[in-house]
Amino acid sequence: MRFFFGILLITGFSFQASAQRECAAVANRNPNFRSLAKANANRPVGHSRDTIVNEIITIPVVVHVLYNRPEENISDDQILSQIEVLNKDYRRLNSDTINTPAPFKSVAADSRIMFCLAKVAPDGRATTGIVRKHTNNVYFLLDDGVKFDGAGGADAWDPSQYLNIWVCSLAGRSLGYSSLPGDPAETDGVVINYDVFGSRGLLRAPYTLGRTATHEVGHWLGLKHIWGDTTCGSDDVDDTPTQSSYNFNCPSFPKMSTCSPNANGDMFMNFMDLTNDACMNIFTNGQKQRMRSLFALGKPRNSFLNSHVCDPGQANGGPLPTDTVVNNPTVASGFSVFPNPAINVVTVSPKGDFALANKTIYVYNMEGKMVLTHKFFFNTEKVNISSLPAGVYIMSCGEGKSRVTTKLVKL
Ligand SMILES: [Zn+2]
Repeated sequence: MRFFFGILLITGFSFQASAQRECAAVANRNPNFRSLAKANANRPVGHSRDTIVNEIITIPVVVHVLYNRPEENISDDQILSQIEVLNKDYRRLNSDTINTPAPFKSVAADSRIMFCLAKVAPDGRATTGIVRKHTNNVYFLLDDGVKFDGAGGADAWDPSQYLNIWVCSLAGRSLGYSSLPGDPAETDGVVINYDVFGSRGLLRAPYTLGRTATHEVGHWLGLKHIWGDTTCGSDDVDDTPTQSSYNFNCPSFPKMSTCSPNANGDMFMNFMDLTNDACMNIFTNGQKQRMRSLFALGKPRNSFLNSHVCDPGQANGGPLPTDTVVNNPTVASGFSVFPNPAINVVTVSPKGDFALANKTIYVYNMEGKMVLTHKFFFNTEKVNISSLPAGVYIMSCGEGKSRVTTKLVKL
């Protein structure tokens, strides 16, 4: 059953809000957002080569976490769980291959494509492959704003070396969307809503197994929807049966449609249909060939054969901070913390014309994860930090240009 609860039109961009899986594979392009992918001057450049039959192709990933509310700042573990899902689904190591109906098992494929979190940033420094950034945007439209610093998002890392994945709150709680091979470099990548990313963490049923990213990365690797986006259309893959349209929820096998070529009906359990996470479990050999063909000499993803940014040995210099800390030097006010370093309790007081009463201070560790909050009722209060492990933290108050931060050392 289809159940759209709203179709919104906002300043010329249209998108559908849906309680069920939807997919905007081709995002609206906003010509007002112009930026170049960050330079990668320090990276050693290899010579182009062709793919080798059956080689495992490993794709370095950078995950840009754009958060407004704390819960959108998803954990490292949730991000890791998504990388694990991708590696299982693209290698047919997913535990639910048992659910692939017998007639389709013969075309099921191990694509021999894998994913790793990047270890080297575009400037050559070490990275976790996770970039966290606070944004003033309560949500992002499907207009690629999330891909640009200037629109409250984060600029792409060199898309010839990294698969850029942006995780954020999407308008209408859309699940995600992807660019297609050959799209402009600065918008190359995949956008996924924060609460359908990964298989561990606070996730929105029935999208709790990380299949939204499996599906969108399929588009990034050139796959079309299995019904060809038109009635009884073609996905340009021979071993996926023609089906009249998409499927939602999880039909029972066999699910016949008007153009089913035989009694097996729709391949509704294909990752490129729109069924629930727990319903999907297969890429086919044809889809595998289509994806891998993109890595051949002269094809849009060929450069990934020479991407070494998952090799920590290629990194130089100190590690990158994974959170963007806004220090506005023109703001003379802020707050002070005493004592610092501290063990159990610190006194936090405003400086200059800053006020703390009725504001909240957020404490982040050096991985950008929020570990403590304190709501102030008065301008000066004591904050108990005894629960924090020893280390360096950033205390942050306010947003955007009015955000002020102070470093705290916990002993
Ligand atoms: Zn799609």
